[in-house]
Amino acid sequence: VIEIGQPEHSQVTTCAYCGVGCTFKAEMRGEEVVRMVPYKDGKANHGHSCVKGRFAWGYATHKDRITKPMIRAKITDPWREVSWDEAIAHTAAEFKRIQAKYGTDSIGGITSSRCTNEETFLVQKLVRAGFGNNNVDTCARVCHSPTGYGLKNTFGTSAGTQDFDSVDQADVILVIGANPTDGHPVFASRMKKRLREGAKLIVVDPRRIDLVRTPHVKADYHLPLRPGTNVAVINALAHVIVSEGLVDEAFVRERCDMADFAEWAAFITEEQNSPEAVSALCGVPADLIRKAARLYATGGNGAIYYGLGVTEHSQGSTTVIAIANLAMATGNIGRPGVGVNPLRGQNNVQGSCDMGSFPHEFSGYRHVSDDATRQMFEAVWNVPLSGEPGLRIPNMLDAAVSGTFMGLYIQGEDIVQSDPDTKHITAGLAAMECVVVQDLFLNETANFAHVFLPGSTFLEKDGTFTNAERRIQRVRKVMAPKNGYGDWEVTQLLANALGMHMHYAHPSEIMDEIAQLTPTFAGVSYAALDRLGSIQWPCNEQMPEGTPTMHVGHFVIGKGKFIITDYVATDERTGPRFPLLLTTGRILSQYNVGAQTRRTENKLWHEEDLLEIHPHDAENRGIKNGDWVKLASRAGETTLRAKITDRMALGVVYTTFHHPETQANVITTDFSDWATNCPEYKVTAVQISPSNGP
Ligand code: SF4
Repeated sequence: VIEIGQPEHSQVTTCAYCGVGCTFKAEMRGEEVVRMVPYKDGKANHGHSCVKGRFAWGYATHKDRITKPMIRAKITDPWREVSWDEAIAHTAAEFKRIQAKYGTDSIGGITSSRCTNEETFLVQKLVRAGFGNNNVDTCARVCHSPTGYGLKNTFGTSAGTQDFDSVDQADVILVIGANPTDGHPVFASRMKKRLREGAKLIVVDPRRIDLVRTPHVKADYHLPLRPGTNVAVINALAHVIVSEGLVDEAFVRERCDMADFAEWAAFITEEQNSPEAVSALCGVPADLIRKAARLYATGGNGAIYYGLGVTEHSQGSTTVIAIANLAMATGNIGRPGVGVNPLRGQNNVQGSCDMGSFPHEFSGYRHVSDDATRQMFEAVWNVPLSGEPGLRIPNMLDAAVSGTFMGLYIQGEDIVQSDPDTKHITAGLAAMECVVVQDLFLNETANFAHVFLPGSTFLEKDGTFTNAERRIQRVRKVMAPKNGYGDWEVTQLLANALGMHMHYAHPSEIMDEIAQLTPTFAGVSYAALDRLGSIQWPCNEQMPEGTPTMHVGHFVIGKGKFIITDYVATDERTGPRFPLLLTTGRILSQYNVGAQTRRTENKLWHEEDLLEIHPHDAENRGIKNGDWVKLASRAGETTLRAKITDRMALGVVYTTFHHPETQANVITTDFSDWATNCPEYKVTAVQISPSNGP
């Protein structure tokens, strides 16, 4: 029992973990948070929360926090604490030196989906207007970049189509490549409530996730597909819908490009897309595919929810497009209860993408080569801008190894631990002459840094996050930054040291500039957010609270575009040396690489990453529950304990990636999505064998 005592004051703010975006009342005594109370007026959570948002904020005052800037000449040197003035002047001098020696394109920046909209907007502004190139990328590269590509090309907007409340009107819920119970707990509860009310459920996942069978919820159909066959399975669902005459013809005729549809329908009815042909690839019985397709097409409002099990594949973008095709063919777009809904992983992955953190797009998803858009930014920023797309994260690392990219500013992202093919990442970082890490802790990436700039937690910030339903919500400062500056102020200091003229007095002024330059954010201001509680973009004067349901009446792109989605097997193949497939995910109590949850005092968090194995696969190798096992792939190997469970399909193993000791990404390969370079985390050929431990 913990004696909390009475709070003296409180402040409403937004959770900094997942893309649900729960709001909380932070109850304070002085500058100490004593309790996070789920906020009943929060429009994403309606007074609910999960264990992370409610209890895992202790990391903000953890002893591991670095609060003083540090520099060192070589990454083998010890760190030296310096003043902010010296750290910023040193960084600016290094970046100028590198550009003078290697050229304008030799430096870049990485923004974080954990930071606020205002912070990410400033980093991309620093890169475009200060560095003079478009070498800016975001950690969304490794999670939902295929969502941006797929939904933009089919519907016209790189975002989910519905608000969370929409699930209350769904009749059939199709969950693919997502485990909401662990990944998006508050929304999962909402979904389960609707299922208990009678909505039908189809789960497409290699693993028997919690939703498939719980005491109160049972999936009508579970399609336990082989990892890497998403496109084949969705094509087969569409094949059944078209060949059995289940297409919503009125919707398609009125709302979609008919020439595209005719071409797609001819493709999708080819024999290779039939459930029988696909069954041989994916391992799901053809009859099950047929039944699931009929239920989705005829069961009333059909709502699709998906996660990283869709995007983190070599065909991630193709899968998102296939899902969009399926929704359009059945008329499940443009009203409450339907839609295509990416369950965004990080608190602000939607916002980070919205803010122009990609090397080819300004805020609002407008291409840098578009003259009118570029001129608008040039007029406000008062500097000429490049119309050439910049480097993505993997390209920056490639260029570093080949000696043309030498300086990197990383705000709030641990690419060594969270990006795939660790050896490639570390080789690229080690080749650079100035790596600047701005973060809360000395993370794995900081091992390769020359400058460390202490960052601030969400409790120390004013700003906004945008959740998975495009809802912009305020983050309010409840304690002073431990390092003396907010993250946006550090970016501003660096920008000015490089010769820019940034003079924002408060993040609200950055939001005013975002609203001025980004049509989907027109009308967003801190005053409006304080008045309305939240705003769902797109918004403007006519729709001040924004748009809960997108594509009503017509698609943003005009006519919805069907795009052909050929299934192409991943190059990652099983064989005698690596006969099993590894896929990865999260658990409820941990968050991503665990930097925050592992630093919150509570025994619950201190679990280890386990390797889930089907009983027969374990028995064949003499592995018992709790044994240490060696997990090896072509890329590398690690050691962890076995958990034997029939949740897993035969031939498939699964682990989480929360603990640095496990280093799950030592195992993953450098294969990535053909359109966006999103890594193929979800399919790795592996072998497992008994081990004596690490
Ligand atoms: Fe935070 Fe997500 Fe949990 Fe809500 S569901 S409290 S946003 S981690």
